[in-house]
Amino acid sequence: MFETPSPSPSPSQTTPSPFTTLPTDLLLEIAAYLKPLPKLCLALTCKSLLHKLDGSKTLRQSRKFRALIDDLNPCCCPAPDTVLGTHRWRLLRRLEDERWKCCSGCLKLHPVEEFAREELEKGADERKCVFGKGVGVVALCPCKTMTVREKGRMIRELAATSAEAEKAEGHCWHECSYTYDSAKVSVKITPRLELGELVLDFRYYIEGKILPGNLRLVRRTACPHSSLYVLLRKDRQARNESCDSGAQRCGVCQTVTTDIFWIIDEGTGYTQVSFRTERSLGRDTVLADKKWDLQSYFPFKKVVRLSEGVYCPWKQ
Ligand SMILES: [Zn+2]
Ligand SMILES: [Zn+2]
Ligand SMILES: [Zn+2]
Ligand SMILES: [Zn+2]
Ligand SMILES: [Zn+2]
Repeated sequence: MFETPSPSPSPSQTTPSPFTTLPTDLLLEIAAYLKPLPKLCLALTCKSLLHKLDGSKTLRQSRKFRALIDDLNPCCCPAPDTVLGTHRWRLLRRLEDERWKCCSGCLKLHPVEEFAREELEKGADERKCVFGKGVGVVALCPCKTMTVREKGRMIRELAATSAEAEKAEGHCWHECSYTYDSAKVSVKITPRLELGELVLDFRYYIEGKILPGNLRLVRRTACPHSSLYVLLRKDRQARNESCDSGAQRCGVCQTVTTDIFWIIDEGTGYTQVSFRTERSLGRDTVLADKKWDLQSYFPFKKVVRLSEGVYCPWKQ
C-alpha cells in the first residue's frame, strides 16, 4: 500500500465537521457524484469517512492508485508513458500537506524531514528526497516495484541472514505470472548479495501462440532500456542470421540475459521460451548509487520512442 498521511487534527476540527455527521446514505449519495480520485481523497480525510466510502477497500487497492509504474496496461492513464502521468501520482499530489510532500524519485509521500530545504521549495514533479539525484523506482514485475529504502532493507536482511555476508543467497523472493493477450509470462525473482551489491536473478518462462509478437504492445521491461518484446525479437533475429544467440547484455545498465531457450511447435506455432536475467541494483549507500540510478525509472515527462518498444530518455 502507499504511505497514507494520518489526518492531522486542526483546531477547527475539535468539533466534528457537519459533513461527517450526515446520515450514511445521504453521504453515499453525494459521494456518488465524485470521480474515483476526489472520492478517495475525501475518504482519506478521516477514519469514519474511509470506512463509509471505501469500507471494502476497492478504491484504495485498485491497481490504478496502487501501481507506482503501470507497465502492464498500455493505455489506461492520461499520460501513460510517464511515471508522473499515473493516477497514483495525481492522487499523491492532492494528498500533500505541510507535513507530507511528494518525492518524484520514490513516487511516494515522505515526511518533510526527509527532504533538504531547497528541495521543499521545488514543485512536486522536480522534488527528490535525501537519497539524492539518483533516487528512483525500480520496476521488477507488474506487481512489484522497489524503492531505494527497500533496497537498503533487503541488503541488510540478506547480510544478517548469512554468516558469510559477501555471498548471501536469498530464497525465491517473489513469484508472479500474468498474461498479455495469449502470452502467459511467469517470473521468479531471487535476490543475492555479491560483494555487498544486491543482485536480482529473474527466471522468465513465457508461452503463447504468437511470440514475441504478442508482447509488443506492453511496456513490460527486462531492464529500463529494453522491453521483453525487444529482447526476444533480437534473439530471434540473431538466431535467424545464425549469429551468436542465447545471451544479451544491456549497453546502458549492464543487465545480462542468458540461457535463452526456445521450443516452437512447428505445426501450431505454439511457442515456449525461457531465459534468465540478472540485474545489479548496487549497494546500501547514503545517496542512491550509480547502479541504482541506471536501473530505476526517473520522473520523465515525455518519452521518445526510438524504435518499437525502445524508450528514450533513460538515465545515463
Ligand atoms: Zn487501458
Ligand atoms: Zn491509468
Ligand atoms: Zn524519495
Ligand atoms: Zn509480481
Ligand atoms: Zn538496461
